[in-house]
Amino acid sequence: MKFEAIAVEKIPLIHKGDDLPSIICERIELQDRDIIVIASTIVAKTEGEIFRLEDIIPEEQALEIAARTGKDARFIQAVLARSREVFVEAPFMLVTTLAGHTCVNAGVDESNIEHGFLLYPPENSDASASKLGNELERISGKKLSVIVTDTNGRAFKIGQTGVAIGIFKIKPIKRWIGEKDLFGKTLEITEEAIADELAGAANLLMGEGAGGIPVVIIRGLDYYFEGNTSIKESYRPEDMDVLKKGLRCLRN
Ligand code: GDP
Ligand code: MN
Ligand code: MN
Ligand code: MN
Repeated sequence: MKFEAIAVEKIPLIHKGDDLPSIICERIELQDRDIIVIASTIVAKTEGEIFRLEDIIPEEQALEIAARTGKDARFIQAVLARSREVFVEAPFMLVTTLAGHTCVNAGVDESNIEHGFLLYPPENSDASASKLGNELERISGKKLSVIVTDTNGRAFKIGQTGVAIGIFKIKPIKRWIGEKDLFGKTLEITEEAIADELAGAANLLMGEGAGGIPVVIIRGLDYYFEGNTSIKESYRPEDMDVLKKGLRCLRN
């Protein structure tokens, strides 16, 4: 058994309006059931989610948080602009985004963008993944899955990893419940975070710096799913999220 992770080489610096599906298809011949993993950074660039820090005008809540934490009120305003709920203000902002993803700084990013600029994550990464996926399938004539990724920290462990923030034609979770283990016992709770695992694998080739590899093809795994999927299927229901409940207690 094996699968491949293939870096798409020689992708240029990406700008607003660039045609990512064509840029990808000009550089690699896609095959049926390939999983196209795309860094959210370049999706955000094509969608024009680029803001100049000095142009951001902080509102009341951002000014309050800045006063409490000593952080740049303009950066906090950028984070709040994409947040639905703030759980932690310092030493980092831990928020749930408007799209429902819980992460540090709402995914607002200062890396791999010109000095003085901020990159906001795509507003709806599922929609971005679908748009890119439909176009990639049209150009290539192949059956494809897409995962839009970002780099996130983890609770309890140091070190960041690639995670899925938007998907197309792949299920985010593989349910093992009901399957047998090596000794014939029935598995009762295990669900495997397929999309995040693939994002992590692809991130090994992307890295976080000047590598210039924002797109990785995963080939040789059969996770193609013909139908609508959403990364929201992987968000823990609010009433079962004990960590969020605990953080709300600390905050209030
Ligand atoms: P994020 O995880 O979505 O925030 O993306 P990163 O900032 O970690 O970048 C992931 C990879 O994409 C790295 O290899 C970067 O060098 C690369 N990258 C970012 N922007 C561009 C771009 O505009 N063009 C190219 N070719 N690579 C880029
Ligand atoms: Mn980045
Ligand atoms: Mn990022
Ligand atoms: Mn990254």
